[in-house]
Amino acid sequence: DAVSKMTLEEKVDLVVGVGMNLSMPDMPIGAIKEKVAGAAGSTHAIPSLGIPSIVLADGPAGLRISPTRDSTDQTFYCTAFPIETLIASSWDVELAESIGKAMGNEVKEYGVDILLAPAQNIHRNPLAGRNFEYLSEDPVLSGKMAAALVNGVESNGVGTSVKHFAANNQETNRMLVDAIIGERALREIYLRGFEITVKESQPWTIMSAYNKVNGTYASENKDLLTTILRDDWGFEGLVMTDWFAGRDPVAQMVAGNDLLMPGTPNQTTAILDAVKKGELAESVLDVNAARIIKIILQSPVFFDYPYTDKPNLEANAEIARAAAAEGIVLLKNDDILPIKNQKNIAAFGVGSYEFIAGGTGSGDVNEAYTVSLVEGLENANYTVDEELASGYKTYIEEEKAKQPEKRFFFELLPPIAERPLTSSQVLAQAKESDIAFITLGRNSGEFQDRQLSGDFYLTEAEQDMISKVSEAFHSQNKKVVVMLNIGNVIETASWKDKVDAIVLAWQGGQEAGNALTDVLIGKVNPSGKIPTTFPITYEDVKSGENFPGENLPDSEEVMMGPISMGFPSKVTYEEGIYVGYRYFSTFDIATSYPFGFGQSYTDFEYGNASLSNSTFNGDELTVSVDVKNVGDVAGKEIVQVYVTAPDGGLLDKPALELKAFDKTGLLNAGASEALTLTMSAKTLASFDTERSAWIVEPGTYQVKIGASSEDIREVLSFEVSDELVVETVNKALVSDVAIDELTSK
Ligand code: BGC
Repeated sequence: DAVSKMTLEEKVDLVVGVGMNLSMPDMPIGAIKEKVAGAAGSTHAIPSLGIPSIVLADGPAGLRISPTRDSTDQTFYCTAFPIETLIASSWDVELAESIGKAMGNEVKEYGVDILLAPAQNIHRNPLAGRNFEYLSEDPVLSGKMAAALVNGVESNGVGTSVKHFAANNQETNRMLVDAIIGERALREIYLRGFEITVKESQPWTIMSAYNKVNGTYASENKDLLTTILRDDWGFEGLVMTDWFAGRDPVAQMVAGNDLLMPGTPNQTTAILDAVKKGELAESVLDVNAARIIKIILQSPVFFDYPYTDKPNLEANAEIARAAAAEGIVLLKNDDILPIKNQKNIAAFGVGSYEFIAGGTGSGDVNEAYTVSLVEGLENANYTVDEELASGYKTYIEEEKAKQPEKRFFFELLPPIAERPLTSSQVLAQAKESDIAFITLGRNSGEFQDRQLSGDFYLTEAEQDMISKVSEAFHSQNKKVVVMLNIGNVIETASWKDKVDAIVLAWQGGQEAGNALTDVLIGKVNPSGKIPTTFPITYEDVKSGENFPGENLPDSEEVMMGPISMGFPSKVTYEEGIYVGYRYFSTFDIATSYPFGFGQSYTDFEYGNASLSNSTFNGDELTVSVDVKNVGDVAGKEIVQVYVTAPDGGLLDKPALELKAFDKTGLLNAGASEALTLTMSAKTLASFDTERSAWIVEPGTYQVKIGASSEDIREVLSFEVSDELVVETVNKALVSDVAIDELTSK
């Protein structure tokens, strides 16, 4: 009804956002009046119809808006929740939902309508700069956790934008790169997580990705945005572009990319001209506009929601702290954690004092504070050696003074180099202190991928610090614990034997230091498990052979005003479906820490495993298992169900694929819990590109119930007598270019 009353100009206004306060040739800084300062964008109001403007703001670790405004002394800080990779490490869908709920409270109370999150691209390669914003290398874990986040945020009556759809798995040339991916890998790996999220949470909006997929920009890709997303999966919301994505606004409209963000005057002109010249049917705009209006009609602003600008920051900080502790992963523990009588702690590493709450760019949050490891310990009444601490603090101040000014909000400044240590200094320290803590920190974010040297691999100064501290403290019979304050995978194999414990704290948001302390002192028994494999070397990562791809011949750097978009390039996903543990397990490549791994202060025994049926005829299959806490302290266990499909069928199969997971409640010493996990036919199926169908092939399937992908505790099996065609979908996203590229490799 609303659309039928709109003029052509109004429809075009609606599908192109109002713009952004950036220094762009056609958009001077500060030209846009923002309702919520620092939000990423908004839509045009259509006053004649009483349709208000909606406000969209990032991001995955919590709402990102400006913390201060010129007009008032009031502050508008938001809670920095842990990064998504940490949330995924909890494997706890209820927790994810509660984090989403808390984030959504801030969205609503600060007058925002849609949160630009969760992000759920696959961890294809450890160097991808935005992996911290993403969940996992596995689509099932990724899809389930993202759905829970969406459900949590949207329970407040605000929207989400699940992003970046699809295959935005690197930052290098992100706006121009053509990701060449086979159909099966797309359906099973890169789209599957989004499919689960759409089906289990029906998000208000989806954000299309910057990159091309098999030759066409994601935002101009009808196969992706209409055939797959809406026709195959039943998505009912609106699709928006990523900021300034794609090249052809008309193609974006036709593809089903309803809203162009942040919106530029050139896009408005191009769409209007195309309709006037008969190159774009107005009926296409009618559909796009209707989808946008549908979302506006359910947004808080449409109901004049009286937002307070006072979200419950204290309660949300508590949620952030509990969440951060749930996703911490204990990678190694030789009889030292939780600490007991060690009161005098020597804290080494710049990172112990400068804790990183989360990554940079749009995934960042403007929080009021970040609790460092040292502050967390002090808050819990532990003594951190003062002289050592003051040496570090002076060093950090001096180094910070040498750093260049940030030119853009998203600019990642070079890290402060590790402070050099002498052996005699460390030995003197070892004599005085009870224990050594070392923090290794890493940061990354939008626009750039990580480096191998000094980032994935440790710097020489870091290696030297680990060696010197370990030698000195071990010579005094004292232990060394390493904290990893990182956004994604780093190399651990070369140094892990030198230290006594390793705690993967990830980037835990503003309460990170308190949460980490809770784990170190045993107030919280760690229960996180890694959602992404830690390889031994980068050479072991299959996608590394094709990351970040190759520049196209004779291509020139593309500039958007003063900003470089990079070079036209392509990246061929030669590894196909063999991503992460699917590759390591199938090709027997040893890992430093395998997918799904994480220790506890207690032990668990698995027993009474059974399957609801020994044959599978297309209905659901239920796996039951009892988990018993056989140690001395209370704890939680994450149980993973993998399937090994029969060999020799039509399609090759990875040695292991995660099909289901669950987490026990807090089990007291001696207590048990019976878990039941279900697998649907779709979960068990593989994608046959010949028939565009999800099929379950005949044969004997092994069900492996594990504490990690390499610690399988129970093996069961079931039979499939005849092939099952579970679902037939549209043929989509194949192009001759992609087929040629992949077959030639
Ligand atoms: C990012 C998106 C983000 C948008 C708005 C883009 O640069 O890729 O994830 O939501 O900016 O800030």
